[in-house]
Amino acid sequence: AYEKKQAAKAAAQLLPYVRTVCELYGVSGKFRKPRVKILFGKETVTTHKENNIFYRLDASKIMFSKGNLSERKRLIPQIKNGEVVLDGFAGIGYFSLGLARFSRAKKIYSIEKNRTAFGYLKENIRLNRLDNIEPICGDFRKVRLPEKVDRILMGYFPYTEKFLGAAFGFLKTKGIITYHNIFSRGDIWKKPLEQLKQSAKENGYRISKIHGKRIVKGYAPGIFHVVIDAEF
Ligand code: SAM
Repeated sequence: AYEKKQAAKAAAQLLPYVRTVCELYGVSGKFRKPRVKILFGKETVTTHKENNIFYRLDASKIMFSKGNLSERKRLIPQIKNGEVVLDGFAGIGYFSLGLARFSRAKKIYSIEKNRTAFGYLKENIRLNRLDNIEPICGDFRKVRLPEKVDRILMGYFPYTEKFLGAAFGFLKTKGIITYHNIFSRGDIWKKPLEQLKQSAKENGYRISKIHGKRIVKGYAPGIFHVVIDAEF
C-alpha cells in the first residue's frame, strides 16, 4: 500500500493536471458502482473531456468506461435527420451528450434510475449547453414517454433481455434497438440474436435487418460485452 501511495504522489507531482489518484478495484451492482480507494489527494469530482464533450462525475461513485470510447462515437453518424432517440440507461450521459451535440437527432430522452448519476446527467446537459435532451429520473420499465421513438439505446448489462419487453413498448412501428449484453464466447452470436427474435415475437415485432454487430470489449475471462443494432 505504501508503494502505491508513493507512486500516486509521484504521478500527481509529474502531471500538473492530476490532483487526485484513485485505485479502481472493480464495478458492481445494477447501478454499476465502482469500488475506489483514494491513493493521493481528496477531491474525486472531475471533468473528463473526450471528443469535445465534458463529462462531469464523481469518480468515487460513478463509473466511466474508457473501453466504450469507440461505441460512444460509432452511433453519431448512424442517426438519421430528425430521429427521436431514447437512451434507456443514460448514466451521466455517456451516449446522450455526444448524440445531442453531434448527431442529427431531433430529441433525446435520457432515462436514469440512480439519483447520483441523474444529478450529473443534468449537470452535464447544462455544462455542454445542450437543449435537445430530456432527462428523466426513473426505472426503464416504469417510465412513460409522451411519444414513440425511432431508436433505443440499451447500454446496460447483464440480463438486458429482461428489459426488451419494455423497450418494444417505447418503439414506433419501425425502429432500431441498440442492444448491449454480455455473453460467453460460445454463445456469440446465436444467443443474443435469439433473445432479440424471441422478444420481438412476443411484442408483435420482427427483425427486419441487422445493421451491425460487434464485440465492444472483454468483460471477464471468456465473457464479452457485445452490441447489436437491430431494426424491427
Ligand atoms: N453505456 C455506458 C458507458 O458507455 O459507459 C454505461 C452506462 S451504465 C453501465 C448503466 C446505467 O444504467 C447506470 O447508470 C445505472 O444506474 C442505470 N440503470 C440501471 N438499472 C436501470 C433501470 N432499471 N432503469 C434506468 N436506469 C438504470
